[in-house]
Amino acid sequence: MGTTYSIQVVDTRLSPAERREWHEEIDALLEDLNRQMSVHRPDSEISAFNRHASMEPMEVSAGFRHVVARALELAERTGGAFDPTLGPLVRLWGFGPDGPGDGHPTPEAIADARRKTGYRHLSLTEDGRLMKHLPELELDLGGIAKGYGVDRVADLLRAHGATRFLVEIGGEVLAEGTNVRGEPWRIGVQRPVVGPATDAGFQSIVPLTDGRALATSGDYRQFRHATDGRILSHIIAPRTGEPAGMATASVTVWAGDALTADALATALVVLGPGEGLPLLAASFPEVEALFILRRADGAFDTTATPGFPAPTSAGGAARHEHGCPAPPH
Ligand code: AMP
Ligand code: MG
Repeated sequence: MGTTYSIQVVDTRLSPAERREWHEEIDALLEDLNRQMSVHRPDSEISAFNRHASMEPMEVSAGFRHVVARALELAERTGGAFDPTLGPLVRLWGFGPDGPGDGHPTPEAIADARRKTGYRHLSLTEDGRLMKHLPELELDLGGIAKGYGVDRVADLLRAHGATRFLVEIGGEVLAEGTNVRGEPWRIGVQRPVVGPATDAGFQSIVPLTDGRALATSGDYRQFRHATDGRILSHIIAPRTGEPAGMATASVTVWAGDALTADALATALVVLGPGEGLPLLAASFPEVEALFILRRADGAFDTTATPGFPAPTSAGGAARHEHGCPAPPH
């Protein structure tokens, strides 16, 4: 997935052999996910699907099918703000393997790329195969796969009997039970200062426990400069085919599973609080979100759903720094 992971387990005395065994199982699980969902690997399932320029349904593995089904569900429920088919636009704006370009694609190029996108051109057949309704359609699960990975690692730890742990992949986290001090885990939400992962400090520190997940999306780690200096976010607004605006610097989503949190964080960057808060109230009453908004003077404002977990005191060491550790893209 082009990123790092970290796992802390505090309730089990593991022998060195067990520790090695868990580590190997987790690595094997993540390796499996890469084989399914990494667009950076030519031999992955997703790459095979993207090359499959045909409307003939394609057989896919159960895990892959599950993530695509959830991606389509969340695309529908976010009015298309989350869209797992934006690969051609992601590339056009310079976030693909072909490199950056000048950051000024022509309106024709944008229109052309948009014609190859749209989650409605993708469906699952009754027998669980994946079908394109446009031969050129591609899948990009970059906005949801890390969250899925977090959920799967948490399942593996639970299956081993662990009850107190923190799982993090590329900044998406899930916490179970309490930390080593017997308190809810404390997750730092970074101040979304644009630039490399220097220590800009935390905007908020969120308590997390009970198998809840927290995911953050934003423009402040993965972005590039157009030749005119404009900053381009790696998150694309499907309605325009252009990078999402900069007013919403980051969105942190608290949800019952990391896959949902991951996909919604991406969607809410596109929607901003104006559309995002009403959508959450109407369609996702069990989900909470914190929006960090960039003011013209460079300072930040925050706005959140009423139930977003109240920050714990900012003093003391946060157990984990939350946010993308600048994966290569
Ligand atoms: P995240 O870091 O979870 O917000 O995911 C961002 C990644 O998801 C991008 O690098 C793209 O690969 C992909 N992406 C960009 N825009 C969208 C969108 N509107 N919906 C779904 N995935 C997107
Ligand atoms: Mg996401």
